[in-house]
This record gives sequence, C-alpha cells and structure tokens, in this order.
Amino acid sequence: MGRLRVATVWMGGCSGCHMSFLDMDEFLIDLADLADVVYSPVADPKEYPENVDLCLVEGAVANDEHVELAHTIRERTKIVVAFGDCAVTGNVTAMRNPLGAVEPILQRIYVEAATIHGRIPFEKGIVPELLDRVAPLHEIIPVDAFLPGCPPPAPRIRKMLEKIVAGEPAVLEGDDLKPG
Ligand code: SF4
Repeated sequence: MGRLRVATVWMGGCSGCHMSFLDMDEFLIDLADLADVVYSPVADPKEYPENVDLCLVEGAVANDEHVELAHTIRERTKIVVAFGDCAVTGNVTAMRNPLGAVEPILQRIYVEAATIHGRIPFEKGIVPELLDRVAPLHEIIPVDAFLPGCPPPAPRIRKMLEKIVAGEPAVLEGDDLKPG
C-alpha cells in the first residue's frame, strides 16, 4: 500500500477522542512515515478532500452541517470509522434526545431560565441548525468500522490503525478491546 491519505473529523464531541489519538505518542512518528493527514482539526484544509483512504469521525451528528459533511466524507473516503462512543452510539451528545425537539429546549434554557435579556442567541443561516434528534454516525451514512470508548484508549486506536495499514479488516475483537 502507498502512503495513506488520512482524515480526522470533529463533529458533536468534546475532542477527547482526538486527545486520545495524540496520546499514541511515538506511534504517531511511525504513522507519519506511512500516512499524510489531509484533513483534521489539527491541520488547516477547509474543504474535505477527494480520495481519502481513512477517516476517523469523532462525535455524533448533531446539526445540519454535520449531516452534509458526513455525506461528503462517505462519498470521498474508502474506510469511514465511527471514532469513540459519541460517534458509535450518540453517547454524551445524545443526552439531550430524551428532552424532545430542539426549539423547546432552547426556549427553556435561553429564555425562560434567563434572569435578564432572555433570547435564543442564534440566527438562522449564521450558525448550524441543531437537529431535533442527535444521531450516531451509522444512522446517517454507512460506516465501515467502529472504534468504541469514551475516549477510545490510545492502544486501541493504534491497534485499528495497524490493521488498516496492514490491509487487514478494521475489526476490533478480544484483546484488541482491552483498555491498555
Ligand atoms: Fe468526548 Fe467521550 Fe464523546 Fe469522545 S466519546 S467525544 S471523549 S464524550
């Protein structure tokens, strides 16, 4: 396999999964010999590029921009990984789902609970619109692999990347799922 074109994406998550990625320490140096990071919150490109080999998607799908980006990722990427429990199940980001649709929640928080100048601080078209229901990634696009954990421990991320680099199926099982 030639050099891997790797992307990482930050959707509705806390960035803890990306922090865990950076915890791979010296393996990141090995990875730099094998892969180019073509899109990431820690890199600069604004547009998701074509011909990406692997994308790790952190976070659940929580707004309309996430939906659009998820479809772009799927069209342009060979292996899409739901990276961390928010992407896999919704997890923390989906904790608002039982409260119902977005509009009443925003009304309750920003207007009814305000002591002065209560108003919803968003303007349509300026910031992404929240979805009424937060969704795990696989509900929006087909996903090739799941990397569970909150966050996934660095050795687990490394194990999946090693499998992908070796051309093996990106499936974690047994000891692969041990925390360290
Ligand atoms: Fe943060 Fe955990 Fe969600 Fe990762 S899975 S984005 S660490 S809350």
